[in-house]
Amino acid sequence: NGSNVFSTSSPDTLAEQRDRLARRMTMEAELRDALQTGQLSLVYQPIVDIVAGQLHGVEALIRWHKPGGESVPPDVFIPIAEQSDLIIHIGRWVLGQTLHDLSSLQGGPLEGLKVHVNMAASEFTSNALPEMLRAMSMRLGVPAPQVVLELTEGMLMSQPEQVMRVMHRLREIGFEISLDDFGMGHSSLAMLKSLPISSLKIDRSFVRDLASGERDRAIAQTIMDLGQHLQLEVIAEGIEDEAQLAVLQACGCRLGQGYLLGRPLPLDDLLHAFPSRRHRPG
Ligand code: C2E
Ligand code: MG
Ligand code: MG
Ligand code: MG
Repeated sequence: NGSNVFSTSSPDTLAEQRDRLARRMTMEAELRDALQTGQLSLVYQPIVDIVAGQLHGVEALIRWHKPGGESVPPDVFIPIAEQSDLIIHIGRWVLGQTLHDLSSLQGGPLEGLKVHVNMAASEFTSNALPEMLRAMSMRLGVPAPQVVLELTEGMLMSQPEQVMRVMHRLREIGFEISLDDFGMGHSSLAMLKSLPISSLKIDRSFVRDLASGERDRAIAQTIMDLGQHLQLEVIAEGIEDEAQLAVLQACGCRLGQGYLLGRPLPLDDLLHAFPSRRHRPG
């Protein structure tokens, strides 16, 4: 696992290891400061109903722009935040900001839009999450079913019972749950059947080769069929061209996300790009 400072694929010298650890610690300190000083922001990527041609929802994605102009991608800083309590603070900030943005849509053309929020493993193992989120959504007047929490298969593997408990409580309150990056992990089909989720997101590594590979197409169709049998919505991630879109539509896929359909945008720009839900992207 490359995200662990102490496990490496090549036999690094002690000096290299020490270096990497120092860099991580620096970044952690910078990230703590970033949270305090408002360097973090959210962008929202459209999730499009590719059958009806309308906006279905959005996914909130965190951004870190440093004062000097440099930005650090979440794939880099989220794993570092996950090594300490920092992820809990960032997670709270993301949820608070997302729900705040969602409540600001009330009375406008995008009222009632669903927002997907990425969650870290340590958030999903916290017994406090469901009540915290419920209090937040009540305070901001956002109905729970508009909030969709995304988790990955890996998060289910480490502490399955605890994660399941939290998931069930979230569902009781009315929040929805979506399984992100589906196909990358190793969930058994039996487990999938018992999960209290409402949608699956097909990882973009499958979507990438969709138009060229027979086998990828077969996998996509199989995931679509699986979704239908288990009554789960399937969202295809990372759609970048018309050929991929056409194959997905032919497979019976209803929901898609990707640069072809819409880039992640700050809330104001999203409102500009989508003056109404019916607006056809692209
Ligand atoms: P993810 O949840 O699977 O999000 C999808 C990623 O794919 C996003 O990258 C998005 O910008 C990118 N993407 C969307 N469409 C396309 C496309 O057509 N082509 C390509 N090549 N990429 C596309 P991003 O924003 O860099 O986020 C990366 C990952 O970081 C996310 O993967 C998620 O796991 C994590 N993440 C992002 N925001 C948060 C957050 O607020 N909290 C937590 N815990 N994790 C987050
Ligand atoms: Mg996601
Ligand atoms: Mg994903
Ligand atoms: Mg991902």
